[in-house]
Amino acid sequence: MTERFTGSFTQQEPIPDEGIAAALAVLRHGRLHRYNTAPGELSETALLEQEFAGFTGAAYALAVASGGYALGCALRAVGTGPGDRVLTNAFTLAPVPGAIAALGAVPVFVGVTERLVIDLDDLALKVQSSGAKVLMLSHMRGHICDMDALMAICDAAGVTVIEDCAHTMGASWNGVPSGRHGAVGCYSTQTYKHMNSGEGGFLVTDDAQIAARAVMLSGSYMLFERHLAAPPPEAFAELKYVTPNVSGRMDNLRAAILRPQLAALGAQVARWNARYAVVEAGLADTPGLTLVARDPKEVPVGSSFQFLLLDWSDDAIGDVLRRCAARGVELKWFGGAEPTGFTSRYDSWRYVDSERMPASDRILKGIVDMRLPLTFSKEDCALIARIVRAEVGAVYQAA
Ligand SMILES: *Cc1c(COP(=O)(O)O)cnc(C)c1O
Repeated sequence: MTERFTGSFTQQEPIPDEGIAAALAVLRHGRLHRYNTAPGELSETALLEQEFAGFTGAAYALAVASGGYALGCALRAVGTGPGDRVLTNAFTLAPVPGAIAALGAVPVFVGVTERLVIDLDDLALKVQSSGAKVLMLSHMRGHICDMDALMAICDAAGVTVIEDCAHTMGASWNGVPSGRHGAVGCYSTQTYKHMNSGEGGFLVTDDAQIAARAVMLSGSYMLFERHLAAPPPEAFAELKYVTPNVSGRMDNLRAAILRPQLAALGAQVARWNARYAVVEAGLADTPGLTLVARDPKEVPVGSSFQFLLLDWSDDAIGDVLRRCAARGVELKWFGGAEPTGFTSRYDSWRYVDSERMPASDRILKGIVDMRLPLTFSKEDCALIARIVRAEVGAVYQAA
């Protein structure tokens, strides 16, 4: 009998009961706006920020409307403006170059390695050739580069690092939480990330000026004293007059459903990584299939799984995708000529002039991806791996 998988790759777990109860309380009192508080009340959003700062170990945290908003806000807060060049990954998701372009700044793409991380040699070259003063580093699909080496390159050249941690909330490099190497860490709480509020995001920093600017930018009017994870009022003394308002606040309803999820995040990370390990073991030594190596210094969050079909033809990869889909396994191919559903490759963003990167093109063409939502059991993951292994094997042998 041919095994078939019947689960859904886009079905996350429900919001915890505690979050639903907290959300109902917010709905019943009606004070959804973060600055709409009863006398003596601390808003859900302010409390969440305090808890998120504690979770990451950052001095300051700001909750915002989306991960993409956090990225744009971080760029503005570090002083990026129109015409500035900003280094970023050739392999990331559309909101990353989009945040740069939305400011009138210019993305400069840096290549990707077989580990699916930023190519540090290419970075060192482009730090010099571009003159960029900011790197927006995306830990795409949760793969973390050698952060010590990256920071050495950027520090030596005076390049400010903003980290896109949409896929690394809860992860770490060499014991340091992801988002805490650079000047600013940005996170997303969109449904498919590690906490789910539909839309939402955070930024964290230890820099009081960046934090104060971000708070003003996010639309705090003159209510910044109601934050629990922002710098003291002195930090706002000048900034409050000269920082434009680009509204993008989080509201108390989202914060209410996120607070219990944050408390559970550590346990969820372990559950994700257990699932990831099952898929990884199930696909080990599959002829024609390259697993993505992990560095021992990396503690990732295995919320999605990637493998490479390096140097396979488009037709053969298409066959694998079709055969797996017929058995219920929905794979995404980052290498398709025409973007469908999402864009993750530098050459899909045609508003940017960029030179071809042949070494990266070879990697990008071979990346196959699947989500591993926590609604999958470990048995599900083992079944998925058996199906992928069999279908990759069948196409590989025929070729
Ligand atoms: C989801 C995501 C973001 C932010 O997305 P929002 O939908 O704006 O929250 C940023 N970078 C990557 C790599 C992402 O996957």
